Amino acid sequence: MKSQADVVVIGAGIIGLCTAWQIRKRSLLSIVVVEQGISLGEGSTGASSAVCRHRYSYDEMVNLARDGIHAYRHWPHFIGTDQPLAQFQKDGVLWLVDGSNGWANKESKRLEKAGIRTNILDATDIKSRFPALNPCSLPPDTKCGEAHDCNDGTSYLYEVDGGYFDPVNALEDLRRALLGKKVDVRFRSQVQKVLTAGGRTRGIQLDNGSVIEAPCVINATGPWCNEVFQQLGLALPWSLKPTRIQILHLDRPVELIGDLPVCCDIVGGIYFRLQNRGQQIVLGSTLEEDEQEVVDNPSDFNRLIDDDFKQAKLHALHHRIPSLPYQGSVTGYCGLYTVNRDDVHPIVGESEITGFYVANGFSGHGFKLAPAIGAMLAKEITGESSDFDTTVPISFLAPNRIPLQLDVKNVLA
Ligand SMILES: Cc1cc2nc3c(=O)[nH]c(=O)nc-3n(C[C@H](O)[C@H](O)[C@H](O)COP(=O)(O)OP(=O)(O)OC[C@H]3O[C@@H](n4cnc5c(N)ncnc54)[C@H](O)[C@@H]3O)c2cc1C
Repeated sequence: MKSQADVVVIGAGIIGLCTAWQIRKRSLLSIVVVEQGISLGEGSTGASSAVCRHRYSYDEMVNLARDGIHAYRHWPHFIGTDQPLAQFQKDGVLWLVDGSNGWANKESKRLEKAGIRTNILDATDIKSRFPALNPCSLPPDTKCGEAHDCNDGTSYLYEVDGGYFDPVNALEDLRRALLGKKVDVRFRSQVQKVLTAGGRTRGIQLDNGSVIEAPCVINATGPWCNEVFQQLGLALPWSLKPTRIQILHLDRPVELIGDLPVCCDIVGGIYFRLQNRGQQIVLGSTLEEDEQEVVDNPSDFNRLIDDDFKQAKLHALHHRIPSLPYQGSVTGYCGLYTVNRDDVHPIVGESEITGFYVANGFSGHGFKLAPAIGAMLAKEITGESSDFDTTVPISFLAPNRIPLQLDVKNVLA
């Protein structure tokens, strides 16, 4: 069977759906989204902590995060409905650092310059605003959980406009919005081949043999991206590795009083946030050493938590929230980052095959960036602007760029 479209998006994760939505908002191009899964959220997006923080090493990334998070903060407007399922949770983002070298002040200035509201908090502010948090600046003993004499830091960065989102509801909101604009999102549709001729994209072939002819195809397949590249024989100069990432869930105990922001605890090597109306804590790692387990097959990997990971992260969390009792159920799961081993930043843009676009290697940042990435690609493909455009040029993430220079190569890069 043969059909035609102007654009085929491969993958109905947050990148694919945001891109399809942004193209539709600016054009009447016919778009088909093909998804191999039977439902939404079967890739990285379904496992995402969906933390929306702005601080990045590069100013361009700060701006990109700002523009992506702006869409989540104005989701009803972005998605074109008064009653979306997903809602931005405005908990703010607190960076717990050792307080040295004026880091918080310096970063606050950078963020404010980009139009992102911040506060500088001291230890007393933290204790009064977030009474459960210990503002200690010393690293915890994550092996044995041995207590030390805590020592308050001097200053901490608080992102007023940060927070988190519900990733699966975001996907469902996007699917419904696309459906309302007559964009076909097809499940159980695995792309087996991207068709090309004479250096140009011609369409795709699905696993059932049917063909969709299209001059524009976008690879938004998350951790499966290399399968598409290999089939095409496209050798990109980037090492994009599906990487197993562990996440813990704890029920919030009654002992934990007051508000909790999203915490990027650099000192403890963890991040955490609330969910389920504040009744649960989601806990993950910020350490490069926890982003090393490359997975051969993104459809089949160990989704269970390692006991040593669990113990280490719980020790770090107990140091940060001393009132947390060492009891109660701790569950967890694993998902996949697609880590760009060269510079932990994504590659986005047209490849050397005309009409074949890549949006891959998001390395743990993709959720917050997705609306801005979608806008970037949509502007490039349609030539049209929209009210959710990003100020960051697509060349910043182009597949033929030089790797960015970074001090840290982890999720907080
Ligand atoms: C545990 C975890 C925590 C995270 N936390 C954060 C966070 O706090 N903040 C943040 O910004 N980011 C976070 N991320 C990263 C973010 O979630 C990802 O970067 C983002 O979801 C990637 O979206 P995607 O659409 O590229 O990929 P995916 O969500 O994986 O979507 C790709 C889709 O393509 C489909 N597909 C693959 N191959 C084919 C094919 N051949 N044919 C058809 N369909 C195909 C897949 O089934 C899948 O649905 C986290 C990720 C994980 C795993």
